[in-house]
This record gives sequence, structure tokens and C-alpha cells, in this order.
Amino acid sequence: MKITPHGAASGEVTGSCYLVETDQARFLVDCGMFQGTRGADDLNRRPPVSNMDGLDAVVITHAHLDHTGRVPALTKAGYAGPIFASAATIDLMMIILEDSARIQVSDNERTNRKRRRAGEDPVEAIYEPDDVPRVRELVRAVRLATPVQIAPGVVARFFEAGHMLGSTSVEFSITEAGRPKTVVFSGDLGPADRPMLKDFETVPPADLIIMESTYGDRNHRPYAETVTEFEAIVQKVSAAKGKILVPTFAVGRSQQIIYHLAVMFHEKKVPVFPVYLDSPMALEATKVYQSHPELFDDEMVAYRKAGLFPISGGYFKPSQTADDSKALNHVDGPCAILAGAGMCNAGRILHHLKQNLWKPDTHVLIVGYQGNGTLGRRLVNGEPQVKIHGEKIAVRAHIHTMGGFSAHADQSDLLRWLEPLAAAQPRVVLTHGEDRAREPLVTEIQNRFGLAAELAEIGQPIEL
Ligand SMILES: [Zn+2]
Repeated sequence: MKITPHGAASGEVTGSCYLVETDQARFLVDCGMFQGTRGADDLNRRPPVSNMDGLDAVVITHAHLDHTGRVPALTKAGYAGPIFASAATIDLMMIILEDSARIQVSDNERTNRKRRRAGEDPVEAIYEPDDVPRVRELVRAVRLATPVQIAPGVVARFFEAGHMLGSTSVEFSITEAGRPKTVVFSGDLGPADRPMLKDFETVPPADLIIMESTYGDRNHRPYAETVTEFEAIVQKVSAAKGKILVPTFAVGRSQQIIYHLAVMFHEKKVPVFPVYLDSPMALEATKVYQSHPELFDDEMVAYRKAGLFPISGGYFKPSQTADDSKALNHVDGPCAILAGAGMCNAGRILHHLKQNLWKPDTHVLIVGYQGNGTLGRRLVNGEPQVKIHGEKIAVRAHIHTMGGFSAHADQSDLLRWLEPLAAAQPRVVLTHGEDRAREPLVTEIQNRFGLAAELAEIGQPIEL
């Protein structure tokens, strides 16, 4: 058996995609996009498999774009086999891929304008919105813990990974020449104390473990501290009748922030004020959360019984249309506005920042990673003035960076996930982490479990 990483290896975090080849079958585990790096576009244009006819199946661990974004490119290139994933992953993946397809088209128009000026021929978009329905025709929902044959001689079982709604680790039982072997892909793992969702499950021991290592070099501050800090800001804004602006990604972080506000209202820590979710995509994703209560943790189930979620209670204000969004310019505080894009580099959040950054009673909550060169990064860096839509805007708002809302397991969580598997002395290969994160984790795994973990490299097969 041979497993070849086609992304999320060699110190690269995005573009997760592994080709597994046995004597009877070929399948992919994840098929994600490269994001944020120079050359990402070229990498995304390269199909991970040249012969689609020889591909038996695609297995998706979770819906994030860096794990699913190249799936429509596969089907566009002729892949017509099954795509296995949990039901919630399928629902969220379709929302994410539809959005991605629109972005591919607009990015491609920009690329082609440049190419034309350079006297070069235009190129096709990696995929377009019309390519996405084909993916829906091929998806097959799997139940957690239920074995499913995905290809000749290959049985998969999915386990909760606690990283986002529907996220899974996957165990593959593979029979080659009558001999059984097991391989586990961790997928992205969530932190143990994340709200709303269940924690990651214990996965059965395996011969080979392919494990993520995003935060392999550090431990997050305790989640409760982040929540306390968040609550203090909300109370201050409420008393001063200010506005909270949260640049946020549509899936995961939006629902998490609304959840914490809902809990504060419920526990009467702060008088109820309106919470605007100004993102059609986030509203779609929120519906998916509401339709998968089986994935909630005990606390969330109890809150739900108390009427807290599905989000309602008079405070939750969906903002669907562009007019709804513009109307928010005229609402008074206290209120919270959540809008995309998460790095403030595009989208409706730009309008809200333009209208409110110059006001000292505005509080901007940075709850996700801000890439180099983005407006979000400039705000985090404390720049006194920024440009939005060509206009100079003074930054008098309070900017709060709250890294503690991360959806990734930290070093101690990763080791806790590995512990029950380590006794069987498996081979461990680390992926999905920069080298500065993977290398300290190798040392910890050696010290703790006496295992010599390896670092995966793109294009270099792992043979078993
Ligand atoms: Zn992820």
C-alpha cells in the first residue's frame, strides 16, 4: 500500500489531499485547495490524479475549503465515483463550494485581465458555479462509527473529530493479499473544550496514523479565559451603548460567537441587545447547525431544551440582502454585527468598518487568523489610520485580538488524541503543520510514547 500526500505536507498547512493506492483500489482522502501562499493558484490548477477512471472513491474528513476545495475540479475533470462524508460535512461542503466557485470566477477574471495586458491567452476558471451540482450528485452520507465499504478491499469508519460541525477522523481497514492493515487519518482535530460540539472520540489502534500538527508546538490559553475576556468586552460595550464588529468566517466562528452572546443573555450577564448576522453564507451555515442537533455536546443540548438554540429569543437578526446590510449603518448601539470576510479583505464587513472604525465606542473583535497584508492584520498591528475603498479612515475603535477561539487542537490535545493509539506502537506520520509546529511535536511524541514520528513530504509516498 502507498499513500502519497498531494498537499498539507512539507510544512504546508493547506491543500489537504492524499492518494491511497492498494493492490485493488485507488482513493483520495480529502481534496482541498491551497490557500494564501504564492503559487497557490498554480497548485490548485494541477489535478492530484491524472487518470480519473482509475479512482474508486473520494473520502472527505470535513467541510473546510482546504480539505474540499478541489473536489469540483475533480468532477469537472471527469471523476464520477462516490464522495463519502458525514451528512453535516456534505451540507456545509456544498455551501462552501458554491461560495468558492463564485470566487474562482471573479479571481479568474482578474487573472485574465492581467494575462490580456501581458499579451497572453486567457485561462479557464478552475471551476464555476455550474460545476458544483455535479458534486451533489456524487456525495454519499455516512454514519459515524458504521463501517462502509468505499472501494474493493477498503472499509472506512468515521469518528467525531471535534473540529467543526460534521468533522471526522477516518479509519481505513485495508485488505491486501489476504492481509488486513489499518490506517487512520486524524483529519483536523478540535480543541477539547470547544463549546457546542462534542469532543473528539477515541479512534481504535492502527498500523499507520496520519496526524495533523497545526498547533503541534504550543498550547492555547484556557478557553474559559478567552470567554471571560469576551464577556468583559461585551459588558463594557453594552454599558456604553457601543457597537461590536466581528469580522468572521461564515462557518464555525460565527455560530460560536453568537452562542456565547446567547449564553450571556440567557444567564442575564448583560441585557439583551440585537445581534446581526450580516452574511447570507453564514445564515445558510447556521441552518445546517440547526438541522444537526445529534452533533451537539451535552451543554448545548441542555441550552437547546431551554430554548436558547435554534437562535431566536428576539435578539438574533438575520441580515440577508444588501439593503438589510446598508440599513445597519443607521442602527444604534448596543449591538453586535458579524460579517465577512474573516480577514477584512472583502465583503460586507468593510462597509461596517468604514462607518464605525473612527468612533471610539466601537469594539472590533478579531477572532480568527489575519493574513499578511490584509486590513485585518493592519488593525491587529495597531495602525492609526487605514484605507477602505480608497478612503482614509481613522482607527479610534478598540481592536481586541482574541486568538483563543481557535478550532484546532493544541499540543496537549493532539497528544491526548494519540495516547490511546500509541500503546500499539503504530507508525506515525505528521502532516498539516508548518515545520516549526511539526518538529516540536515529533520530540513530544518521542518523549511521551517512544515513537519516532515522521514528517510527510508532498509527492513522497508513504509505503506500508
Ligand atoms: Zn479544518
